[in-house]
Amino acid sequence: MSNRIFDEIPSFDANANQELSKEELLEMRMRLEQKFREVQQILKIDPNDPNSADTPERMAKMYVNELLEGRFNKPPKLTVFPNRSKVNDLVISKGIKVMSLCSHHWQPISGYAAIGYIPKDKVIGLSKLTRVTEYFAKRAQIQEELGEQIVDFLQDLLEPKALGVVIRAKHYCMIARGVSADESHSEMVTSVMRGRLLSDLNLRQEFLRLIDTR
Ligand SMILES: [Zn+2]
Repeated sequence: MSNRIFDEIPSFDANANQELSKEELLEMRMRLEQKFREVQQILKIDPNDPNSADTPERMAKMYVNELLEGRFNKPPKLTVFPNRSKVNDLVISKGIKVMSLCSHHWQPISGYAAIGYIPKDKVIGLSKLTRVTEYFAKRAQIQEELGEQIVDFLQDLLEPKALGVVIRAKHYCMIARGVSADESHSEMVTSVMRGRLLSDLNLRQEFLRLIDTR
């Protein structure tokens, strides 16, 4: 089997991406499974404990095929449509689920995003905003950069007059460990604004009012 992924492809940032083939991903999973067996051994977990026997295999599959999936794929190809009716107001999608992994501790980041834009020549189906968010969330992230990546991608795709992404999320590295933050109250909020949402304070306030669910 080709070892291109280990011999030729240099490592890259946790929240960057490079497309790998199915075979390469399988090779990656097999190697990871071996390493997780070693981790179990070091942590003195009996590999014959029936609850733990298949854990290395599950962990390898979970990281490669689910939690970090976006790292190994190209961005989704999304169809844009002409802005025929000359929409010149905010188009907003909110309540977009965000499920990611923090780069620092590999603990879940769980929350919601709201994305709004004012189209220029192009519009996009709202469900596509969810797909973009999912793609950039499925890798190890820091919340600040997750928002920037979503905005950069949509800016290139839509070239809108205004664009904003607000993410509210709980960081389980702060809840399960460390400062043991209270799950129901701890939340991180990040916002990235471009174009008119950056320069026009009234518009920004309207956007923030429309996405506020509390
Ligand atoms: Zn963390």
